Amino acid sequence: MIHKNSTIELFIKLLKAPSITPNDGGLLDLIANELPQFKAERIDVNGVKNLLLTRSWGDGVHLAFAGHVDVVPSGIGWESEPFEPTIKGDKIFARGAQDMKSGVCAFVCACKEIEHFDGTLSIILTSDEEGPAKYGTLEVLRYLKERNNLPDFAIVAEPTCEEEFGDAIKIGRRGSINGILEVEGIQGHAAYPQKALNPLHIMAPRLEKLAGYYFDSGDEFFAPSQLVLTDLRSGMEVTNVTPGSLKLMFNVRNSTLTNSKKIEDYIASVMDGVSYKLHLDQSAVPFRASAKSAIVKALEKGVEKFTSIRPKHSTAGGTSDARYLAQYGIQTIEFGVRNDTIHAPNEYTSLEDVFNLAKIFHYVITHLKEHL
Ligand SMILES: [Zn+2]
Repeated sequence: MIHKNSTIELFIKLLKAPSITPNDGGLLDLIANELPQFKAERIDVNGVKNLLLTRSWGDGVHLAFAGHVDVVPSGIGWESEPFEPTIKGDKIFARGAQDMKSGVCAFVCACKEIEHFDGTLSIILTSDEEGPAKYGTLEVLRYLKERNNLPDFAIVAEPTCEEEFGDAIKIGRRGSINGILEVEGIQGHAAYPQKALNPLHIMAPRLEKLAGYYFDSGDEFFAPSQLVLTDLRSGMEVTNVTPGSLKLMFNVRNSTLTNSKKIEDYIASVMDGVSYKLHLDQSAVPFRASAKSAIVKALEKGVEKFTSIRPKHSTAGGTSDARYLAQYGIQTIEFGVRNDTIHAPNEYTSLEDVFNLAKIFHYVITHLKEHL
């Protein structure tokens, strides 16, 4: 049984800690103390604090909950103190109320109430998700892999809902590829264009083949992968010199239907006959859990039971630590409260939603085996 009062009590403790990245505000110790039945291991690397909690009842599946205790700075425009949680009716205002102390609170409360699970339950927490995220969840996964103890399933409790609590679960995320295209020309006088090689003139007709180009048309899970121009520079801000070089920057939020090679090939076809340099950097790889996966089904059932809503499967938005879990072959999904005030002033969430989130996670733990 999950109790509303104790859920709110823990939530307030989490929200009170000014755990701005990469600080944990003492929350990792606080959470370890909340779950004394779990084995606690600190995996701190380069100033980043991480916590791994595990409890095993023997053979079976390994289910992990993952999240971050760090938050972005409060910024300006608040009507209450960002680290002094303020309750108005069902709403609680504080930095991290949505992203993602609500999710952390919910899975800690759910795990606390579990007396038996056929396998292993674990919690992976980091204090560096909103920062570079280099020494956070990734380090814990490396540690688990070394010990041959990687989870089979993971739920990252990031806020995923859009209009109403329960309306969306994330079963994957798009990737992100950054590109820099450079064209070398020969600088010259605007009056003698024949003596120069003007990279602006080289690129002008090609730009429309790049701007907004769709590499695929998407599928039922992913939006199309589109080339979005982010910067173009060349020249010296004068009218009588033609530039000697040009630099174009872009980003592609890619689905599983498009990879770096496809982008490289398309640019080669557009730039045919021109000498250029292209640098592509994939900062996140797209991933998707199988819609038939036990974790997707168990979560869907839980959401329906406690919200009467059938959640849609989404892959929208930016990147999260879920990409790292997926990279290790873990069936990973994300579910949490609404995300309409994340990183904004007056961030808030509904207390009832946090309570229901804890009940849904408890349901997933106790019903997962029915879907295996
Ligand atoms: Zn987050």
